[in-house]
Amino acid sequence: MFDPLAVRAQFPAVQNGSHDDECTVYLDSAATTHKPQIVIDAITHYYSQQNANVHRGSHRLTAKATEQFEQARDTVATFIGATSSKEIVWTRGATEAINLVAQSYARTMLTEGDEIVIGEMEHHANIVPWQIVAEQTGATIVKVPMHPDCTMKVEDYQSAFNANTKIVAIGHVSNVTGTHQPIEQVIALAHDIGAVVLVDGAQAVAHENVDVTALDADFYVFSGHKMFAPTGIGVLYGKQSLLDSMPVWHGGGKMVTKVSFDKTTFNDLPGKFEAGTPNTAGAIALATAIEWLNNLDRAASEAHIKRLQNRAYTKLSTVDDISIIGYQADASVLTFVVDGVHHQDVATLLDQQGIALRAGHHCAHPMMDALGVKGTVRASFAIYNTVEEVDAFVSAVIKALDIL
Ligand code: PLP
Repeated sequence: MFDPLAVRAQFPAVQNGSHDDECTVYLDSAATTHKPQIVIDAITHYYSQQNANVHRGSHRLTAKATEQFEQARDTVATFIGATSSKEIVWTRGATEAINLVAQSYARTMLTEGDEIVIGEMEHHANIVPWQIVAEQTGATIVKVPMHPDCTMKVEDYQSAFNANTKIVAIGHVSNVTGTHQPIEQVIALAHDIGAVVLVDGAQAVAHENVDVTALDADFYVFSGHKMFAPTGIGVLYGKQSLLDSMPVWHGGGKMVTKVSFDKTTFNDLPGKFEAGTPNTAGAIALATAIEWLNNLDRAASEAHIKRLQNRAYTKLSTVDDISIIGYQADASVLTFVVDGVHHQDVATLLDQQGIALRAGHHCAHPMMDALGVKGTVRASFAIYNTVEEVDAFVSAVIKALDIL
């Protein structure tokens, strides 16, 4: 059984989430989620009781830390349906994971005339690394247009594909509207023409079961902090055959087997991509977050989130001067603009009423340009939010409109 209040009680920042005694309604979980006590405890426990460097040293503390660090990798592999833990590379987050693929896989494989296909609604993290590598290699970026209802269509990806298409970079779920992209079909079509697909799962993993093997994704990336784990830890999943074929990226300790001034040799997967001391506590805490999520009735918790989003939509969509942008019934976010009012002014008035949400371009300039807006206001709902918070949010919006 999913009990929203019992789950909420596990999040200290939601309980105490006040500054200067003002109660804050946190509707910015798509930016980063709060952390349940069990995850905070995992970090505290690691630093207060263990704390050793991994994969080096010869004492018991380092052996224990290494064991937990590698167990965390196994937990991630199982969580996303990878066939081997070797396919899980720790990164600082989704952004770093995409940069790793761009600079290791793409930089060595792309040549002039090759094409990288990217949708118009992608987050900057899934655009800019590809622009950098396109510049370095002479490859070309091909944009797939977004439809006015903020959806992406398989046919448009299909029309963008040709014999030169080598990489397709696609988001699983949009951070602006919560749009699900047709990744299954796009992956299948890309494979038909021999292209590889990187899926940006930053906004998906907290909300749905992901099976990278069933999806047949070549690369899948996400960040821990958007799924109840700390900042500074993230994951690159890659098919083992691809990761094996890729050159090393960052150089340093741990990614080598032997260093000499004549010839340096590199570690096997996944160590070859993990130079230097990793975020051990972060990895362990991410595994804790995953185990915590796995113990929830995820279908029920998602239904709760969708109910909250739907309630906000139903109430706000009838308010004059509010235009909901690209509403998606199955999303955990709601994005809107107030006609004639700057999004930041709306957010400031909401903040003054204790409502924390995101206003701006959401790191999606091309999407904003396609929509013809400079920015929007986005409320994002999570497992710990309540119906009362949605109502407080809606009342605060209406009050803000009165002031504006
Ligand atoms: N992709 C999407 C869809 C996102 O929403 C974000 C963050 O907002 C990112 C990528 C980048 O994530 P991070 O900043 O954790 O690397």
